[in-house]
Amino acid sequence: MHAHSRRGFLRQTLGACWTGATLLDQAVFRAARARAQSAAALPELFDVQKVADGVWAAIARPTALINCNAAIFETGAGLMIVDTHSKPSAVASLVSRIRRGISDKPVRWIVNTHFHWDHTQGTPTYKRIALGADIVSSEATRNLIAENGAARLKDSLDQTRKSIDGYQEKAAQTRSPEEKIYWQRMANEAREYLVEMRNYTPELPNVTFGANLVIRAKDHDLHLSFLGRGHTAGDIVVCCPQKKVIATGDLLHSFAPYIPDGYPKDWPRTLRAAGQLDFERVIGGHGAVQQGRQRLTNMANYIDELAAAVSTGRAQGRSAAELQAALSPASFQSLADGGYGEFIVDSLLKHTPVAPGTTRAEVLAGAVGTNIQDTFTVVDRV
Ligand SMILES: [Zn+2]
Repeated sequence: MHAHSRRGFLRQTLGACWTGATLLDQAVFRAARARAQSAAALPELFDVQKVADGVWAAIARPTALINCNAAIFETGAGLMIVDTHSKPSAVASLVSRIRRGISDKPVRWIVNTHFHWDHTQGTPTYKRIALGADIVSSEATRNLIAENGAARLKDSLDQTRKSIDGYQEKAAQTRSPEEKIYWQRMANEAREYLVEMRNYTPELPNVTFGANLVIRAKDHDLHLSFLGRGHTAGDIVVCCPQKKVIATGDLLHSFAPYIPDGYPKDWPRTLRAAGQLDFERVIGGHGAVQQGRQRLTNMANYIDELAAAVSTGRAQGRSAAELQAALSPASFQSLADGGYGEFIVDSLLKHTPVAPGTTRAEVLAGAVGTNIQDTFTVVDRV
């Protein structure tokens, strides 16, 4: 009897955001709502905080399929949104949040800091919302998306299918109601992701650069720089010197580094080059906004120590498993400095899903063990 039309429902849910939305925004919201199927409203996937005048950080909430943060820079010509998350509904969620009292400016630039799926798979949705927007990346990143985008998507879908089986098994095995709810939630979110990504095709950047691109707005500039290889072969950093903010993708964030596509011997140098930029706050690809340079220095020192220890062990003929056994978190001076190891644990507990009952020591040991394995594989990559 009270069968609301989908349009009426969205108008009600999104309120002022719906009225202020363009027809294209509305189409995307409708599609996201249709995909979300059971959800009563678009899910809130981000906590948005103001970092400076006209600059916001959208900090991703923990989900089974990770979303990256977004950095939002407002200019007279429109918004620059740095990084696009893992799925269309994340874009719909963020744009609807932006339209609720943050900015009514059109999206003018979409930046992909690097090629990873959790930073690029929302790009086609932004392109539909903002037909005139430019998609910007380094040349290396565009090449990496073109070469790997489809294969990585297939991997992520296969991996997700497998992980659903694992989540269901864990939900069935556990006697703890809290754990059961946790694993069921993981399985549901993974299933929703598979549905949502069914007809996905990647969108390639249409503006690329080698080393630097400067966008001059009326009252401030946005400097996009490729400073060397690090987390991938193409990471860029966005710096607004007037607002003293940088957005760093996964070159610098608040989790342990993700190394499988990285260059551990170049990464610390690239991070220290980013440290020379004019900023006071960092919007990283994951985790909370950082103040100053302490965590940048910590991360550079940790990757240096990791690369040196793994290189040495490898040259002595030791296996990755032997190195994992020999190199405990406590053996890394760089994890003790400034409480960096505990900072990583705090960030993972707050910003990623962690199974109930997991101890802090297990979280850190898991992260360091993975880092040793991945560094072992790529440390001599040239
Ligand atoms: Zn990444």
